[in-house]
Amino acid sequence: MSSIPILPTIALIVAAGSGERYGGDVPKQYETLNGQTLLRRSIEAFLQHPKIDGVRVVIRRQDHARYKAVADGLTLFPCVVGGKSRQESVWRGLESLRKHAPARVLIHDAARPLVSPALISRVVTALDDASAVLPAQPVADTLRRGVKIMDRQGLSAAQTPQGFDYQEILAAHRQFSGQEATDDIALAHLAGLDVITVPGERSNIKLTMREDHAIMQALLNSTMETRIGSGVDVHPFTPHPVGAPGAQQVLFLCGVAIPHTQRLKGHSDADAGLHALVDALLGAMALGDIGSHFPPSDAQWRGVDSARFVSHAMNLLEDGGGRVINADITILCETPKIGPYREAMQARVAALLGVTPDRVGIKATTTEGLGFLGRGEGIMAQANVSLAWPA
Ligand code: MG
Repeated sequence: MSSIPILPTIALIVAAGSGERYGGDVPKQYETLNGQTLLRRSIEAFLQHPKIDGVRVVIRRQDHARYKAVADGLTLFPCVVGGKSRQESVWRGLESLRKHAPARVLIHDAARPLVSPALISRVVTALDDASAVLPAQPVADTLRRGVKIMDRQGLSAAQTPQGFDYQEILAAHRQFSGQEATDDIALAHLAGLDVITVPGERSNIKLTMREDHAIMQALLNSTMETRIGSGVDVHPFTPHPVGAPGAQQVLFLCGVAIPHTQRLKGHSDADAGLHALVDALLGAMALGDIGSHFPPSDAQWRGVDSARFVSHAMNLLEDGGGRVINADITILCETPKIGPYREAMQARVAALLGVTPDRVGIKATTTEGLGFLGRGEGIMAQANVSLAWPA
């Protein structure tokens, strides 16, 4: 008895190119778009689609480590290594699916991460009526060869995912393996399969030129909403431990060690600035507060660098597909003077949030001698953040 589950529709994502036209330090499928690689976005588009039963990625051998990082935590078929050309890579991917014998396969370029669920549905549904489906987009621009205008009639731009009857496209790849074809639809046509077209999407663009990145980013951001969050934290002053060396006579604020006659008392390093920031981040995502993520009763947080709490919140932010737009922190105290440390705090907080320092405000004020802060009993910090978050 075979234990291989029946998976009618499998997505094959082709990520085996070197992206020579695009340039850059990494192949373009490993470029990031709002903090997430194109490849991960492409994978998730199919993985999360109810009509797709499994996803396999074809990679370059030398990208194995990169791929492992991208696919971390996702439930995928093991990747396969591609060949010298896109065609060969697809063929290898198709052969690797033999034992699963899917009814349908959707072949998609990793460099098109903005593919919509609706487009995937259209391709899968159309496979009920044909053995090959091409998403095509009408050509809007006037086309010229040299200065001569070409007839636009009947011209369209081919996109992916292209959908196929699995056995038939596998047979076509085997039959025409020596013959160079632009894409899988071209092979299907050579093999005499009936090809139908469905509407593609203008937003389903392929990262090819540098400027495509900015266009994709703009498209992506149009699906984001802006969230704000706020956080407040207070820690009391307490004397340094008896005999503490001078270098250790510091307190921590916004990730910076500040020499001071007293330290701040708390379970971790008592960095009120970073604690307020963490609460602001969690608040904007509606994910509780710092105490619910890092209970003070838990001994493992004793004396810990509060940057760890910020990193935790940033991981949650990244998991949710969001990013920080800006942060603004106000420190309320009589001492120490914040001015000399403002720039260092700005740089530190910016690094923790993955933004440039011009997106981090650090301000300080006193309470004019009033209340516990005025009496110099402690420090209060207030933080606000705004996030871009998937709508
Ligand atoms: Mg605190």
